[in-house]
Amino acid sequence: MKILVTSALILVGSCATLRHSEKIEKLKNSISYNNKSVVENYINTITPEELRAFVEEVSSEKYDGRMTGEEGHNKVCNYIKTYYDSLGIKPPTTHPDYFQKVPKSSLPDDVKDSQNVIAYIEGSVFPNEYIYITAHSDHEGIVEGEVYPGADDNGSGTAAVLEIAEAFKKAAEDGNGPKRSIVFLHVTGEEIGLYGSRYYTNNPVFPIEETVTTLNIDMIGRVDKKHKNNEDYIYVIGADRISSELHFVVQEANYNFVNLELDYEFNAKNDHNRYYYRSDHYNFATKGIPVVFFFNGEHEDYTKPTDTADKINYLLLTKRTKLIFATAWYLANSPERLKPEII
Ligand SMILES: [Zn+2]
Repeated sequence: MKILVTSALILVGSCATLRHSEKIEKLKNSISYNNKSVVENYINTITPEELRAFVEEVSSEKYDGRMTGEEGHNKVCNYIKTYYDSLGIKPPTTHPDYFQKVPKSSLPDDVKDSQNVIAYIEGSVFPNEYIYITAHSDHEGIVEGEVYPGADDNGSGTAAVLEIAEAFKKAAEDGNGPKRSIVFLHVTGEEIGLYGSRYYTNNPVFPIEETVTTLNIDMIGRVDKKHKNNEDYIYVIGADRISSELHFVVQEANYNFVNLELDYEFNAKNDHNRYYYRSDHYNFATKGIPVVFFFNGEHEDYTKPTDTADKINYLLLTKRTKLIFATAWYLANSPERLKPEII
C-alpha cells in the first residue's frame, strides 16, 4: 500500500513538472523583438567615445569625489540636470527643476540636504506605466586628503543612464518613442546606506503601483578577477526574484543584441556577498517591483582612490549599456505590461 501511494505521488509530481516546463517554454516564446532593425538604429547611438566623455566628466577632480550633501556632489547633480535640459528630456511636472530634495532629516546626522535627479520621457501609449533606469550619482568624497574619483563606482552607471536616455530621446524624435514612460533616476546617498533610493521609494514622484520595473546600474565598466580571460560578461542579479518574465527578457535582449556571458553567480539566494541587498534596486524590490541589478563584480580599485576613468574598459561598458537599453526597450514597448509573477 505504501509503495503504491509513493508511486502515485511521483506520477503527480512529474505531471506538475511537465506543466511547469511548458509554462516556461510558453513564456520564453512570448518574448521577441519583432522590430530588431529599429532597435538597432538606436542601440548604435551608444558609443564608447560618448560613454568615455561622461565617465571622465563625472569622475573628474572638480566634483571632489561626489560626497552626498557636499558641493562637489551638488555640482555633478547640476551637470546631470543641465544635460537632460539640453536634450529636451523633461523633469516631472511636480519637480520642474529635476531635483527631488532629500532633506537632512532623512539622511545620517552629519550629512547635509541632498537631491535625487529625475528626468523622463513620457510613454506614447501607456504614459502612466513607468520603467525606471537608475544609477547612484554619489561616491566617497575626499578621504584623508585624497579624492575618490569613483569612475567605475558609479561614473560607469551614471554614464550608461545618460547615454541610454539620449538613445530613447532620438527614438522619440523619430516617432519611435517608448510606449511606456521611462524614468531616468540618479539617486543620492547610496554609498552611505541607500538613502536616496529609500527616500524616493517612500516618496515616489510617480505611483509605485504603476512602476513596471527598475533596472539598476552600479559599476559596469571594469572586469573582475574571475573574468580576466573572458571579459565579455556581466553579473545579472535579482531578475528572477519577483518576475520570471524579467529574467527571460534580459536573456532575449542579450541573445539578440550583444551576446555577453550573463553570470548568475551572485544571484544565488545564499550568496555570501549579499549584493542583491546592497544597491538601490533593493528599495524598489521591497515594494514588490521587479528589479534587475547590473554589476561587474569587485576589482582591485573598488572603493579606492585608484578607481579612475583611464582604467574603464569602454568597449565593454558600451556592450553592457546596449544590453540594458535593449532590455528597457522591450519592457517599454511590449504589448502587455511585465507581470510581477513567478512561474
Ligand atoms: Zn556603487
